[in-house]
Amino acid sequence: MADYDFDLFVIGAGSGGVRAARLASLSGAKVAVAEEYRVGGTCVIRGCVPKKFMVYASEVSSQMKTAEGYGWTIGERSFDWKRFLHDKDVEIARLSGIYVTNLQKAGAHLLHGKARVIDAHTVEVLPKEGSTDAGRYTARKILIATGGRPVRPDFPGAELGITSDEAFHLPTLPKRVLVVGGGYIAVEFAGIFNGLGVETTLLYRGANILRGFDDDVRSHMADELEKRGIRVVLGCDHKSIEQTEAGLLSTLSNDLTFETDAVMFATGREPYVEGLGLDKAGVKLNARGAIAVDKHSKTNVDSIWAVGDVTDRINLTPVAIREGAAFAQTEFYDNPTSFDHDLVASAVFSQPPVGVVGMSEAEARHAYGKVDIYRSVFRPMKLTFYGGQERCLIKLVVKQDDEKIVGVHMVGPDSPEIIQMAAIAVKMGVTKTQWDSTCAVHPTLAEELVTMKEKYVPMGAG
Ligand code: NDP
Repeated sequence: MADYDFDLFVIGAGSGGVRAARLASLSGAKVAVAEEYRVGGTCVIRGCVPKKFMVYASEVSSQMKTAEGYGWTIGERSFDWKRFLHDKDVEIARLSGIYVTNLQKAGAHLLHGKARVIDAHTVEVLPKEGSTDAGRYTARKILIATGGRPVRPDFPGAELGITSDEAFHLPTLPKRVLVVGGGYIAVEFAGIFNGLGVETTLLYRGANILRGFDDDVRSHMADELEKRGIRVVLGCDHKSIEQTEAGLLSTLSNDLTFETDAVMFATGREPYVEGLGLDKAGVKLNARGAIAVDKHSKTNVDSIWAVGDVTDRINLTPVAIREGAAFAQTEFYDNPTSFDHDLVASAVFSQPPVGVVGMSEAEARHAYGKVDIYRSVFRPMKLTFYGGQERCLIKLVVKQDDEKIVGVHMVGPDSPEIIQMAAIAVKMGVTKTQWDSTCAVHPTLAEELVTMKEKYVPMGAG
């Protein structure tokens, strides 16, 4: 057997790469992990974690409104963006440090610098300031876990806009912002900016935001965003952005113009394959430019695997972690494992947040023909006390022939927390009768999930 420097060489120390590296290392394998930026990857450094801190910071403004509704007098309000950023960065550095420690404890070697594949068993780490790790290394197996990065649209002046990467480090909070896109990041950041007092407009090219989500969720969310003061502009796109004395002037495809202090593009992310040398090793990409892999995350090259966003399957942190763990089980524990990508729950940390597991009504109708819908739109008890107007949406999609719940959709406080539990039952194949046999927890918002008895028939139907 050939003698290699390492049993496994992981490129990218994000969620998927770190999990795979740690598990492989704990099996006794000799493991290296190369990272060009900071350990922790998108999730920890410029994604889920800092975003959630921003959501927490931003939600305080509506909590103050609620407090006033309950008789509190709130004094002068001000938000110190610089202090928040500093504290956020301290916490991110702490978390990144924990990732480093965990890798070291597991016995993995951390190498600093951008890595590229030279051939099926060789990786080159490029020089990086402050690091002496540059060089060529051989490995029995190579795992690519380089994640994704934001895509910026191409039109005159687009370079004047920022992406989520920069939004985490803005030197000052803009007074007015235009957020472009209608997906997870756009809706989440529109809520963040709005909650922090920024005059916020959301611009989306399609008919309604959150394409791919259930249509009721999409229309409910658009209404709720507007109720909270976000201007939602649909069905048009940018023509150009110009720098003016007062800010950035966006001209849209309908010739409407907007002047804002910042334009943020949340127009999707692409697999980060640039400079990886995949062509040299003969690793194939799929039509979307992602690394093509089989159910065990193996590429077409026998010694190379890939996990996480760089494979563009389901681009979520816990999925990358599971894919990384399944790879390590298969290759280092003699336990062939593949992650089941079916019924992965997800949440949008918008305000209000969304929690979803399973199919939308449209997907279920397409797949099964006959489905029953149970749906409730209501004002949460917490808000009725003082006349708040926000509403929750809860919707169940039930397959008619065997009564299985194939979709649960929620918009409202704590939806991401609640959907985690709903996902267990849906993954186990729960029927509506079993679901309803679960007694309600009262008074809660979630009890509505198990108390919807009447099938929903839209107006004009049936
Ligand atoms: P999404 O794919 O969710 O949304 C991209 C949006 O940008 C879509 O609305 C798309 O429109 C629009 N768009 C794409 N290209 C252009 C263009 N050239 N001009 C104008 N609009 C454009 O990507 P995000 O960047 O929001 O997020 C990336 C991924 O990261 C998500 O899909 C998700 O997997 C993950 N993520 C998960 C989070 C969570 O779990 N809470 C949070 C953040 C990200 P159209 O619909 O017409 O294509």
